[in-house]
Amino acid sequence: MKIPLNSFKNDQSVVLQEEIVPEDLDLDIGIMHFPENLQLKAEVWKSKNDLTVRVHVEGMRSFTCSLCLEEFDNLFEKDFALHYDIKGLDSVTIDSDVRDELILEHPIRVLCRTDCRGLCLFCGVNLNTEQCDCKTGE
Ligand SMILES: [Zn+2]
Ligand SMILES: [Zn+2]
Repeated sequence: MKIPLNSFKNDQSVVLQEEIVPEDLDLDIGIMHFPENLQLKAEVWKSKNDLTVRVHVEGMRSFTCSLCLEEFDNLFEKDFALHYDIKGLDSVTIDSDVRDELILEHPIRVLCRTDCRGLCLFCGVNLNTEQCDCKTGE
């Protein structure tokens, strides 16, 4: 999202909305990706030298389960604030900071459900959906 600084007055807030196309922000990081466009809402406020942007993002993300390697979707929303020094600028593009916020949050390890049984260590079947004849526990 590009915020044109001359389109609104100082000490006045405006709300801007935009869809984020995940590919445009390079949001795919392996363990987590975004299957649909995300909704971005930004409340922006500026004074002479500073811009404050309160961002709300919501949408769907997909994770790969650390145990069974199945993909699952997860609705999320996130709020954060960004601050910029706007001395001498006509516009501010917040995309890379939005990307950082969305990616920094990702967990190192995710499970599709708390009791995920994972894959069989011997034959590799998904033990949530299948049984195998491998001996376990010995
Ligand atoms: Zn799982
Ligand atoms: Zn097995």
